[in-house]
Amino acid sequence: FLPHLVASMEEVQETYIMVKPDGLQRGLVGEIISRFEKKGFKLTGLKLFQCPKQLAEEHYKDLKAKPFFPKLIEYITSGPVVCMAWEGVGVVASARKLIGVTNPLQAEPGTIRGDLAVQTGRNVVHGSDSPENGKREIALWFTEDEICQWTPAQAPWLRE
Ligand code: GDP
Ligand code: MG
Repeated sequence: FLPHLVASMEEVQETYIMVKPDGLQRGLVGEIISRFEKKGFKLTGLKLFQCPKQLAEEHYKDLKAKPFFPKLIEYITSGPVVCMAWEGVGVVASARKLIGVTNPLQAEPGTIRGDLAVQTGRNVVHGSDSPENGKREIALWFTEDEICQWTPAQAPWLRE
């Protein structure tokens, strides 16, 4: 195991998690929030939001050249999304594991996509893929005053 990977797993990070419009329409918001809450991560931002096309395009700018890009933008802007910021030790990679791989049919049972979705184009949830993108995406979707710093009562029971 590479030392820098171990270091990044032990550092406090932030990640942007979003329930996509299908997750909201299918009544999965509570279930999805619950998975991150139960794991022990800290919610620092939460809102229901109708995403403008321009923001969706900025969020997914790395995928602009993909053939599915127009459909992706249509999907993400097709109804309100639930925007969340989560904080914790190693939260970026851990959240990606909780979410499961992009194609829900290949996602492991026990993951959000593995348990709750069947198609890549309707995969119910987004999670940042690196600590840098976590910061970038939280800054993109939230204003500074929408992020709350607080200490969960359970903190000493989660980490020694
Ligand atoms: P993620 O990080 O697991 O969400 O996956 P990517 O960053 O590769 O893609 C972003 C999102 O674009 C995915 O979550 C899907 O909603 C969508 N997407 C990716 N690949 C495809 C595809 O082949 N077809 C369609 N329709 N959507 C895709
Ligand atoms: Mg991605």
